[in-house]
Amino acid sequence: MKRRSFIKGSLAGVASVCLTACEQLKSSPGTNPSGDHFMSVLGARPSLSMGFTLTHEHLFADLRPYSEQLKNPLSLNLNEVVATVLPHLTEIQKLGCKTFIDCTAVGVGRNPPLLKALAQASGMQIVTTTGAYLSNDAQFKPDYFDAMSADALAQKWLGEWHDGIDGTGIKPGMIKIGVSGGSLTKDENKLVKAAVLTHKKSGMVIGCHIGPWREVKPGVNGTSAMEQLKLLKDAGVSPARWIWIHAQSEADFQFHQQALAQGAWISYDGYRPEQTPHYVELITRIKTEGYLQKLLVSQDAGWYTATEPNGGKFNSFAPLITNLIPALKDRGFTADELAQIFTRNPAEAFQIKLI
Ligand SMILES: [Zn+2]
Repeated sequence: MKRRSFIKGSLAGVASVCLTACEQLKSSPGTNPSGDHFMSVLGARPSLSMGFTLTHEHLFADLRPYSEQLKNPLSLNLNEVVATVLPHLTEIQKLGCKTFIDCTAVGVGRNPPLLKALAQASGMQIVTTTGAYLSNDAQFKPDYFDAMSADALAQKWLGEWHDGIDGTGIKPGMIKIGVSGGSLTKDENKLVKAAVLTHKKSGMVIGCHIGPWREVKPGVNGTSAMEQLKLLKDAGVSPARWIWIHAQSEADFQFHQQALAQGAWISYDGYRPEQTPHYVELITRIKTEGYLQKLLVSQDAGWYTATEPNGGKFNSFAPLITNLIPALKDRGFTADELAQIFTRNPAEAFQIKLI
């Protein structure tokens, strides 16, 4: 197959839909939670234009603790970073990728101006985030976090949604939060509540990284997921507006089933070529359970790292398309099932929508 043919097929009629949706958006850009658009760094775009989408990747990061980032702000040459990163975007564009969710969180080097420059240079639709990240011993926790209530945090994030990030005019398209797994701490509870409040006023989807950057016992990350879903439901928010990022790190599949049964999104997003058989198994299990329409698959690759010479080692975004998709086809996945995972599901998950 013919990946190109299924992508083309899924985009049939997009042009006319684009015109209508774009016209509607002009009247209320970024504030219309109707579900027909997503928010790219270049503004609102029709969901139907997303096409083949990588839903969890990183173009750029600053992995120094937040305090260090404040003390020694980066002096970046944006053009140099663009020159290094752009070929990696062009590579996947040639393979049919149209939209790219840059999941880099606030405090971990989120860089909207760089993403905008890359979107303009490549033509790729790129999404950035708002929120905060408390995983990994809270080393990336913003300095203002402790003094602010959930409501005040939500107001800050909604400020980015309405007015753009740090005076750039660039709006986020996702609320990205990060927690460590296990029962929610007081800080994590505040974080999730702030995300819920932000969602209710914006329609942006909430994506939560769960777990430390190391293996944990089965049930640890799942416990956090269940507690978060309860907080959502108590606040009247549908689990369908919440993505469990790095769900593959939870070895107890019962937790995946419980999240799916409630309507949440499961994101298996750490794919590397050597894990092809494992990912084929994971994805096949979701298909067998009948939840293919709630699955996101990506690879958490890239990572131009600000403090390393020339950005350090950059992981290509191509293997998901060049290795995993052929393996899924070999396993019997149809063009329509692949379009479900990589085109229709992202369009549904990242739409700006209140339900
Ligand atoms: Zn990531």
